[in-house]
Amino acid sequence: MELTGMEGEGRILDGKATAALVRSEVAGEVERLVERGVRPGLAVVLVGDDPASEVYVRNKDRAATEAGIAVRTLRPEATVSQADLEALVSALGVDESVHGILVQLPLPAHLDAAGVVEAIDPGKDVDGLHPLNVAALAMDRPGLVPCTPAGCIELCDRHGIALEGRHAVVVGRSQLVGKPVAQLLLARHATVTICHSRTHDLGAVVSAGDVVVAAVGRAGLIRGEWIKPGATVLDVGINRGSDGKLRGDVELEAARARAGAITPVPGGVGPMTVAMLLKNTCRAAAAASEPVSSSGRTAGAGT
Ligand code: NAD
Repeated sequence: MELTGMEGEGRILDGKATAALVRSEVAGEVERLVERGVRPGLAVVLVGDDPASEVYVRNKDRAATEAGIAVRTLRPEATVSQADLEALVSALGVDESVHGILVQLPLPAHLDAAGVVEAIDPGKDVDGLHPLNVAALAMDRPGLVPCTPAGCIELCDRHGIALEGRHAVVVGRSQLVGKPVAQLLLARHATVTICHSRTHDLGAVVSAGDVVVAAVGRAGLIRGEWIKPGATVLDVGINRGSDGKLRGDVELEAARARAGAITPVPGGVGPMTVAMLLKNTCRAAAAASEPVSSSGRTAGAGT
């Protein structure tokens, strides 16, 4: 598979192709589990009718079904109460045909997402957002890791991009992306700087990065001229322009002219997120069928 870009420009890290590879490996793992009598099951809970969430859920459903995972989408009314939603999620926790539970966020404003996430069985928390999985990540213990951050690391690994000893600059400190990707990079022995909305002179910090992860949600915030020559740029941002096109947080062409490797938007980190969801579901199913095995990360702890 050709994954490199043109000479003289940063190579494009093709997330679509890499995700296809991961998904086919997951399909093989699903077959092995089915032979052992376990069909991995994923329950997706979609509350209300947010159009972007509909698209994400459809993509996840299709990819999981293609990999042989049994997908069930539950659609409580947008007016569902906190207690009813938590009860639904808790019931999935004791359903043996379900190995992965995903509550599509954001939830309608009257609902408390943290409470709903805490109702998810931590062993089935394929989004890695339950406090026990967050703690496991912070403590270098096995657990389920959030899909987008895991996808960033997988992309680097599959393209031979070294992380150890390199300076990784993460822009964004969300619970979903920024913080966990920073922790994964740290677990891989990168030197990590986290930037956020109050960071002074963002350009100066970003320009020190051998690896830059952009997870903000503002098109073109990361300027091409900030990129250190030869750096790896992972653009997590998804921003829809007034022309309807998707753009990342990084000025793609200007950054590519300086970068060693860069993910496009669309077709970079996004497809990896879905692939890692399938991988997490398979891991959760494998762990459930073999109680002694540990699910999750292989990242080594370090001092
Ligand atoms: P968020 O809104 O929760 O967090 C944004 C972060 O950006 C915050 O930590 C904030 O401090 C920081 N920030 C805001 N303005 C800044 C500035 N001017 N300079 C530096 N930092 C600034 O968002 P999120 O959930 O982390 O998502 C970030 C982006 O990634 C969004 O575009 C989202 O759509 C996208 N996303 C993509 C995927 C994927 O699969 N590719 C998955 C999740 C999120």
